[in-house]
This record gives sequence, structure tokens and C-alpha cells, in this order.
Amino acid sequence: MRAYLDHAASTPLLPRARDAMVEALSVTGNASSLHSAGRRARRAVEQSRESIAAALGVAPSEVIFTAGGTEADNLAVKGLWWARTAQDPARRRVLAARVEHHAVLDPVEWLGAHEGADVVWLDVDALGRVDPAAVAAEVASDPGSVALVSVMWANNEVGTVQPIESISAICAGAGVPLHVDAVQAVGSIPVDAAMPDTVAVSAHKLGGPLGVGALIARRGLDLVPLTHGGGQERQVRSGTQDVASIVGFAAAVEEVMSDLPASARRIAALRDELLAGVLSLCPAAVVNGARGGQDARLPGNAHLSFPGCEGDALLMLLDAAGVAVSTGSACTAGVPEPSHVLLAMGVDPALSRGSLRFSLGRTSTSRDVAALLDALPAVLERARRAGQVRLGRLSSSARQGA
Ligand code: PLP
Repeated sequence: MRAYLDHAASTPLLPRARDAMVEALSVTGNASSLHSAGRRARRAVEQSRESIAAALGVAPSEVIFTAGGTEADNLAVKGLWWARTAQDPARRRVLAARVEHHAVLDPVEWLGAHEGADVVWLDVDALGRVDPAAVAAEVASDPGSVALVSVMWANNEVGTVQPIESISAICAGAGVPLHVDAVQAVGSIPVDAAMPDTVAVSAHKLGGPLGVGALIARRGLDLVPLTHGGGQERQVRSGTQDVASIVGFAAAVEEVMSDLPASARRIAALRDELLAGVLSLCPAAVVNGARGGQDARLPGNAHLSFPGCEGDALLMLLDAAGVAVSTGSACTAGVPEPSHVLLAMGVDPALSRGSLRFSLGRTSTSRDVAALLDALPAVLERARRAGQVRLGRLSSSARQGA
């Protein structure tokens, strides 16, 4: 691999996290056991909880370990829904941003299909931003009917950062719980996890291991568990804790938080170098999402559409050239679907099919950007030719069908 430009999908495991995990893996003990081996395991879990809590500005008891971001999102969305509707069956409305990751989108849709939730999708503007005034108006129209609101901190495709402070204040003022998926934000930009009621975090997006994460849940918040069993994690998430992964998660959080502003500035500069390089090679490319400024867009995210090309073809050709990127859009039964995020932003579906996400992180260097820029001209040329062949086939089959 010449360049890994897919940090938004998963980040390389930081050496500090790997070393901490290797040590923890050789220690026997169930963190719920009362003997000294169990207490040692418990101590490792609790120390990790304390350091993650301190890094995110919350109390240790507010950190609920899960098996990653997807589980944390499901626990928040379904757990809040069940708790809130049990308290008051009039709370039927779920407000969620159209651009949420599927880890939120799908449980919300599931609540609509199976639990009778009235789902209200919050629109975004052309840069992918939710308007706090629209959230306020929607909540104010009937505050007593809102079960929960869900707006992500930063988008995984186009990197747009949402105005979470304003949205938190609106929800707190109306007494309705706000869930925030901060999976892409934590470790990339400053996140005050004490503002919303629940916040989802995932270790493998910030240099930690795969398969572990946390839901930060405000103290005293009523959440109905998804899993039942041994009553671990405040009785909210039963299951024996994965000590080594939790220890690796904490080590990664400690490292990324130790120099966050400086590394965010370095990564943003690298991203701008990538953008400038790509646009000079392909002036017709369109940048999706917010322009510039660390407040508006994740520092490591660049998202572009290449007219006349298929995103999948670009991805595979770049992969063959040793450069790993992502299209960000889902495939349904082998057919690439336009991204729901780009559609919500009003991007032309035909253009959206030719999109790529380049995402940089702590281990990215100028060499990665140079490898991309070196491979891109030939890749674009081949993808354009493939796109013309495809268009030709489509128009001839349309003529035959007419
Ligand atoms: N939420 C967002 C915004 C994500 O980007 C992802 C992963 O891509 C998830 C949730 C799911 O997290 P995990 O992979 O830890 O299940």
C-alpha cells in the first residue's frame, strides 16, 4: 500500500494502544470476579473509564462501554425511545438528521416501522448542516410529543460539523433528550460530551482497536437496555467487559487528546494540500461539504465528485495503484446507490455517483498525498473512458427500448 487515505473508515492502531492491549491480553480475569485476578481486571477497566471520562469532560459513571459505535447508537436511539415512551406514551416523535450514519438512520427507521414512531427527518443545507432554528421550531410545535432528537457531531462522508452546542441548548431548554453520534468527531476535533444527553464514541476511529466503543450517558438518564444478563455497565449493557480492548481504547484516547489542536492543524494543512493538488489535476472536480475552517469541517476530510466518472471505478483503480480511499456510498445488491448524505445536500444524483472521500489522520504524511496525486491522472483518464463506454451502452439500450 502506497497511501492509506481512509481514516474515516478505520484508523491504524496506535503503537501505544497496541502495547497496552498486548499487556492486558496476557492478564487472566473477569472484571466481575471478586478474587484478586478479577479485581485486577476490574481496576484496568475502571482506570480506562476514568481516563476516557476525563478526556471527554464527563464523570466516569457516565461512560458505558459497548462493542463500538453502532451498538452505542442503537442503545441510545432504542433505549431512549423505550424509556421515554414508557414514561409517557404521547412521546411518539423521533427527530433525526437526514445525514445520520446508518447506525442511527436504521434504528430510527426500525422504530418507525416496528414501534409506531413518527419519524421527522431534519433537512440539511447544501453544506450538510442542520439549522438549529428548524430543530427549535420542530420541537416547539409540540414538545410533549418528542421522544428524542438525534443529530450527529460530524458527518462521516463529507465531514460537516454540526452546531451541536446550539442544538443541545434547544433540546435541554425543551426538556427533550438529544443523542449525538460523535464517532467521527472524537479524536479529530474538541468534543464536549457533557452537552448532549448521550454521545456515541468508537475506538477504531481514533487509533484504538476495532469492536469497542462507548455510549456517554448523562447521570440519571433513563435508558432501557438492548441486552440483558449480568448487569454490567450500570445495568445498561450486560456482557463481560473486553478488558484488553477497553485498555487499548483508553490508551488511544489519551494519546489523541494529548496534542489534539496541533495535530488537527497539521492534518487540516495536509488535507488542504490534497484538495489543491486534486483540483489542479482535475479542475472540473466539485468539492462537497463545508469549505475551510476547522469549525465547519473535520480536519482530515476531503470529499469530491468527479464528473463523468463512477466512484467505484475510481476506487478500484486507485486501489490497484496502491491508494486506499472510499466512495462513502452504499451498494444495494451490487448496484451503487447515490449517497443519502449527498442527496440530502441537493447534489445531483448523477454527479454524486462519481464521488470519493479522502480521509487523513494522525499517521498521514505528505508522502500519502503525493502518492495520490501521482496515481490520479491515469486513474481519472481510465475512469472517464469507462464512464463514456457505460453512457454509450445506456443510450443504445435506451434506443433499443424505445
Ligand atoms: N457513526 C458514524 C458517524 C460512523 O462513521 C461509524 C462508522 O463508520 C459508526 C457510527 C459505526 O461505528 P462502528 O464501526 O464502531 O460500529
